[in-house]
Amino acid sequence: MLVEDCWVEWAHCLREIRSQINPKSYEQWFARTEATFVNANTIRIVVADTICADWLRKHYQTMVEDIVFDTTQKKTAIEFMPYVEKTIKNDLSQDLFGSIISEDKLSPEIKKTPPKETNRRSNYTFDNFVVGDTNRMAFSSAYTIAGNNSQTTYNPLFIFGGPGLGKTHLLRAIENRVSFEHIEKRVMYVTAEEYMRRFIEAIQDRSTKAFKKLFREIDILLVDDVQFLLKGEQTQNEFFHTFNALHEKNCKVVLTCDRSPDKIEDIEERLRSRFKWGLVTSIEQPDLITRIAIINSKAESLNLDLEQDTVALIANHAASNVREIEGVLTSLTAHVAIHQNNIGTDTVNSVLRQRGRVTYGMRDISNIQLAVSESTGIPVALMVSRSRKQEVVHARYLAIYLAHTITKDTYATIGSQFGGRDHSTVLYAIQSISKRLKLDPILKKTVGSLLNQLDS
Ligand code: ADP
Ligand code: MG
Repeated sequence: MLVEDCWVEWAHCLREIRSQINPKSYEQWFARTEATFVNANTIRIVVADTICADWLRKHYQTMVEDIVFDTTQKKTAIEFMPYVEKTIKNDLSQDLFGSIISEDKLSPEIKKTPPKETNRRSNYTFDNFVVGDTNRMAFSSAYTIAGNNSQTTYNPLFIFGGPGLGKTHLLRAIENRVSFEHIEKRVMYVTAEEYMRRFIEAIQDRSTKAFKKLFREIDILLVDDVQFLLKGEQTQNEFFHTFNALHEKNCKVVLTCDRSPDKIEDIEERLRSRFKWGLVTSIEQPDLITRIAIINSKAESLNLDLEQDTVALIANHAASNVREIEGVLTSLTAHVAIHQNNIGTDTVNSVLRQRGRVTYGMRDISNIQLAVSESTGIPVALMVSRSRKQEVVHARYLAIYLAHTITKDTYATIGSQFGGRDHSTVLYAIQSISKRLKLDPILKKTVGSLLNQLDS
């Protein structure tokens, strides 16, 4: 059977599977699977990750084998394999005796397997990564490495930052871009945990030779969460040699970590120093403007219709990381599906509260921004932007003045909610409005009515 036939057969089987299980399960476990040909009696189904593979083996193995039998009229063994393993198998093609078949001995079917859309970690691309001040450097260095630019001088690239800030997203984006634009390059994504697990398995199976060869023969190695490359001397030692082998050949290594190299405990000094050889860059919590951009982008891909005031409300409260923002948007999507109505600030407030984000009712800074936005016609996103347009500056100062007057927030907190402005800007805004209030009766009236409105 050719690879292409295998895809066609699998597409037929998927149709049958879809008719037999509920749509959610189908979407979760089968929608992004892909079949590859192994031999006349076996088909390998490539799935997103190890968890997915385990789940399918446990819950759907027999059902899938029956469906494949019904569809092809042939008894076929089904193997569920996570994506990485597939890459390894293709790269390695270990024969049963543990030796390694070189690339030109690969079966033509495997070699010719064209990249397919289903292989793509479609959720993680450079296109859907929103760039802002806090992640620009990490983004562009990752992007450059993915661009197959052998002139790139830094190696390794070490990206560090807290959870949910896009480190894995960037690694997967590199993997995607390389495997689709530079198919000749071998790129491998692996978590540090997976690397250790594989190494330990290799020791147990006495296949460390194959393990070493595999990891030293790739062009771009992406290792996620290296903080987990803990102790276990042997693993660190092996990683050290892998790193050296790749580095010597100018093969790129990209590492992510939840902290800077200096702060990783339990790591051998020689590894730490290598982590710092190239470019070390961090991803910080996204600032307000970036959060707004992220929310808009994610809402669009979720087909979620959000008014700018609700976007601002979410951006002001779901501020810790992007995963939190995604959580809020998922809850809102569920809300729309259940209640079939539009999303207003009430809904957002209740979702935020359910997620432990306290909103303070009308006296909250984001509500002040909304009220000023309604009164002046200047959108909140502009109010917190860098715009120096006179009317925008006026709205911004007015909102800062009100925030200072009716919340107990410090200048620093107020500044942070207005696009990361510093203490002196906040002070200047307050003084400027205070001065003008004495001279401008219309402004006085506006402030009075806003204070009334917000005092509920
Ligand atoms: P980390 O690996 O740093 O813990 P992830 O890469 O898993 O974080 O990101 C968590 C989620 O947030 C993912 O769904 C990712 O797509 C999304 N995300 C993070 N940063 C961005 C960004 N700048 N633009 C778009 N999505 C992002
Ligand atoms: Mg991650």
